[in-house]
Amino acid sequence: MGWRFDNTYSRLPEIFFAPAKPATFGAPRLAILNRRLADDLGLDLNTISSEATASLFAGQELPSGSRPIAQAYAGHQYGNFTMLGDGRAILLGEHRSPSGQLVDIQLKGSGQTQFSRRGDGLAALGPMLREYIISEAMFALGIPTTRSLAVVTTGEPVYREVKRQGAILTRVAASHIRVGTFEYLAAKDDESNLRVLADYAINRHFSELADLPSRYLEFFRAVMDRQAALVARWQLVGFIHGVMNTDNMAISGETIDYGPCAFMNAYRSDTVFSSIDHAGRYAYGNQPAIAQWNLARFAETLLPLLADQQEKAVAIATEALGEYPALFEQYWLSGMLAKLGLQSAEAGDMELVQSLLAWMQENRVDFTNTFRDLSEDELPTGNRYEDPNFREWHSRWHLRLRRESRPSAQAYAAMRGVNPVVIPRNHRVEEALAAAEDHNDLSVLHRLLATLAMPYELGNDTPMYQELPPDDCSYRTFCGT
Ligand code: AMP
Ligand code: MG
Repeated sequence: MGWRFDNTYSRLPEIFFAPAKPATFGAPRLAILNRRLADDLGLDLNTISSEATASLFAGQELPSGSRPIAQAYAGHQYGNFTMLGDGRAILLGEHRSPSGQLVDIQLKGSGQTQFSRRGDGLAALGPMLREYIISEAMFALGIPTTRSLAVVTTGEPVYREVKRQGAILTRVAASHIRVGTFEYLAAKDDESNLRVLADYAINRHFSELADLPSRYLEFFRAVMDRQAALVARWQLVGFIHGVMNTDNMAISGETIDYGPCAFMNAYRSDTVFSSIDHAGRYAYGNQPAIAQWNLARFAETLLPLLADQQEKAVAIATEALGEYPALFEQYWLSGMLAKLGLQSAEAGDMELVQSLLAWMQENRVDFTNTFRDLSEDELPTGNRYEDPNFREWHSRWHLRLRRESRPSAQAYAAMRGVNPVVIPRNHRVEEALAAAEDHNDLSVLHRLLATLAMPYELGNDTPMYQELPPDDCSYRTFCGT
């Protein structure tokens, strides 16, 4: 089939994981398979039957060479520290793709592990398909993310508030090393294994740093750089992760653990999605600061590796962390300028961006559609664009565009390459999940996925996916009001 397993993580010391085994499921069935990704991974699934494929992705038949484990980790959840670990996920091992990349193959929802605590280790079909849709949409947008290879139903129910179909997602990731993995060893006061983990992560993700005398500091700074770049990308498409706990922040810089996440419709910086996030800790506008908070927890774990004396280590870490705000702003502002077709940088640019966002927030206009409208050679007509405040901003922007070296037509074309036409709007995602869960109808989902796979291009279905929900405030706690 093409599997090439190299189980590097399970060769780490025993404290890093617990052996695990997928539970037995009577009647697994394939719900969706990502054939493009399978091809890219060098997996030939055409030679096996759909039953065998379902059995494979339900963990009933393990790929040869895999050595399943549950990874140990901890994390700050909503600010509180807890010991966690893979309670409903099993890492089959790392697969070497034809391009030479080592990727984790993980089953999510495959039954209990040593870290399940009181949980059943299972997952429901809706949330696994939701992760599939959003992660693949993020990938198509060009944003670093874990990928989704397959979803199977297990044939057995899971009990949440209601009875739901059990399902397993096969997740492909650069790795599953989290800030929380470092916190786990730090909490155990295990400095020698902390060093083992740092060296492992450096070799796997930042091998260019391996020989530097200050490699642990540079490792921290490299992780910080990737997180600043990642969260800037989220902000630029209106993505709200929803649960930015430290166990959901990957050292690799990929977006990971799609739970109650969503894309924003109308622009509001206090938009939250998770219904348990009462304080708005993980609201859209808080994401950059929360990333820095998480990086501070990460830096704390690395202190013993940064200097012999704690005081000195704290000074080093504090100074490095202090670079974050400027780093984030640089990624964010250059992304925003690109969204406005600007290649050069001028003193008033930040103000120009901020006043557009302020206008959007005041008038509750759609974030994605507004940027796309601005990318057209002719601004579409519409009441909201007749607003004198908008006209004033628009002429300022036009004057600014004229000071660019390239012709405006070229700037608009470039804008269409960075401002998506379609995002996975929540009402469309919910509609696709309802059809799949309630009627075993995956056609709605496939149609949605086809459009999301080309988010910068106009297609036949584009208009329906650009439409806003009838009442933007009708979706759970999405409005944050
Ligand atoms: P998450 O909200 O998916 O990031 O998970 C947070 C923690 O809860 C992780 O340690 C998970 O493994 C664990 N967890 C979530 N759902 C379950 C479940 N159904 N059974 C066991 N553990 C779970
Ligand atoms: Mg998680």
